[in-house]
Amino acid sequence: MRTRKRKGAEELLESHPNLVILNPEDAKGRWREVFGNDHPIHIEVGSGKGAFITGMAKQNPGINYIGIDIQLTVLSYALDKVLDADLPNVRLLRVDGSALTNYFEDGEIDLMYLNFSDPWPKSRHEKRRLTYKTFLDTYKAILPDHGEIHFKTDNRGLFEYSLASFSQYGMILKEVWLDLHASNFEDNVMTEYEAKFSSKGQVIYRVEARF
Ligand code: SAH
Repeated sequence: MRTRKRKGAEELLESHPNLVILNPEDAKGRWREVFGNDHPIHIEVGSGKGAFITGMAKQNPGINYIGIDIQLTVLSYALDKVLDADLPNVRLLRVDGSALTNYFEDGEIDLMYLNFSDPWPKSRHEKRRLTYKTFLDTYKAILPDHGEIHFKTDNRGLFEYSLASFSQYGMILKEVWLDLHASNFEDNVMTEYEAKFSSKGQVIYRVEARF
């Protein structure tokens, strides 16, 4: 989904090079230096306006988070939240999720999140889905052996597709929620889309899958 362009978004992002990594190729293999500690690093691909990544960073100060999105405008809204909350453990990246091996060394990322990824319902667009096998190849490369993807969505079609895609890839489905908000899952941090869709009565699906 496209967000209306925000005037000055690019300038805002460029004026915070300590938070928005502008030359991420240079950070490859050096992310622990970027954060200034060796805490685990978790990423969200398609982080949107950043409610999840900043909420997680507040909840877990001992973990470093990187929010990744290709859209300038939404990333600039995420930056607003990082600045407001003055969070030392978040960085933002404007790159394509299909190219993550350009920015992260093998095994450099400890865990990754996908939340409310674009569903691309037409079968001719299957390759664009962030849970398509070529994306899984990329995620596998930057995660440790047996690394995990935690995925939430309200989109039943994308959820069914993703379970099958993980499984065909040989991943283990550690745990599956068919109605996250009715479950006893604790400390859930809501994303913008999750708040919007659950307020309309949609159920939220969740899966933890391991390579
Ligand atoms: N996770 C947020 C936003 C979901 S919308 C939430 O739950 O509220 C999906 C987001 O994924 C959009 O912001 C879109 O720009 C981003 N996106 C789509 N394809 C992407 C890709 N290939 N790489 C990085 N981000 C992508």
